[in-house]
Amino acid sequence: MVEKVGQHAHCHICGKAIPISETLCSEECKGKYQAMLKKRKILTYIMYASILFVLALLLASSYSGGGV
Ligand SMILES: [Zn+2]
Repeated sequence: MVEKVGQHAHCHICGKAIPISETLCSEECKGKYQAMLKKRKILTYIMYASILFVLALLLASSYSGGGV
């Protein structure tokens, strides 16, 4: 027996089938999703910060330790 499944999406956290207008199935998954987004944002900031840090180091070394 084949049950017809209309258009549906999957919860971004647990993968449960949900209506296509939704992205998450429950408040619990919403909380997890928000936490994940926050974590990702922080990771992005850390990445940018480390790139800036390396650039600053390169600039500093080319200004002071350049020799010539
Ligand atoms: Zn879920």
